[in-house]
Amino acid sequence: MMKSAIHNPQSAIKRVVLMGPPGAGKGTQAKRLVEKFGMIHLSSGDILRAERTGGSELGEKLKKYMDAGELVPDEIVVDIMAGAIAKQDTEKGLLLDGFPRTVAQARALDEQLEKMGLPLGAVLIIAADESLLVDRITGRRSCPKCGAVYHVKNIPPAKEGVCDACGSELAQRADDTEEVVRQRLDAYRKQTEPVIDYYTADGRKIITLDGGSPLEEVAQQAAEALRAGS
Ligand code: ADP
Ligand code: ZN
Repeated sequence: MMKSAIHNPQSAIKRVVLMGPPGAGKGTQAKRLVEKFGMIHLSSGDILRAERTGGSELGEKLKKYMDAGELVPDEIVVDIMAGAIAKQDTEKGLLLDGFPRTVAQARALDEQLEKMGLPLGAVLIIAADESLLVDRITGRRSCPKCGAVYHVKNIPPAKEGVCDACGSELAQRADDTEEVVRQRLDAYRKQTEPVIDYYTADGRKIITLDGGSPLEEVAQQAAEALRAGS
């Protein structure tokens, strides 16, 4: 309660879809926006990765698609995300990160939010060049224990391969290799870019930011755009 009073989330757009190719910095920016505005952050990638760990039949299926850099089928993702959204107190606002990623998912989301009486306020796109993305992703290392994210060249830990924050050994995501990254970028171009056309054709508020700019700059522009649009 205190928190929302300080952040005054009423003064910004509350329900936002965050889009952008892999490596554009969606996760980092999502974290910043949530700190500023106090909305609920749902990352489909994180939710699917959590779903995988149980070793269930569904988990095995997810692993197959995700490790290959392919999109998980719409029925599965829509089902999981609809459940995750329904569980949240969306009055606080909702930042969807990585979902929707196909036009079918975007339609399903619109239907659900309409039923809930909570339509989307804006689509925030973080754009970036492919050469930059491949380098960012293949150099990415993260801490399996505390979630801290590094880059072998751009944000190296003090000691190679070890987390500054908690001392754990850093790991590379199975889908962060060059070959899989190319596949993920391909999926983005073919399946996810049409979502931008869908929202554009429907007259939604679209905010495009340059993911090649320094993190702080992107964060500031994102916050300003959401405030200005309220
Ligand atoms: P990135 O955006 O960097 O590719 P994510 O963590 O968002 O990484 O997603 C990792 C993988 O999870 C994707 O390559 C895909 O297999 C799966 N995934 C995440 N969100 C979706 C979605 N909305 N639809 C289908 N598959 C998804
Ligand atoms: Zn750590």
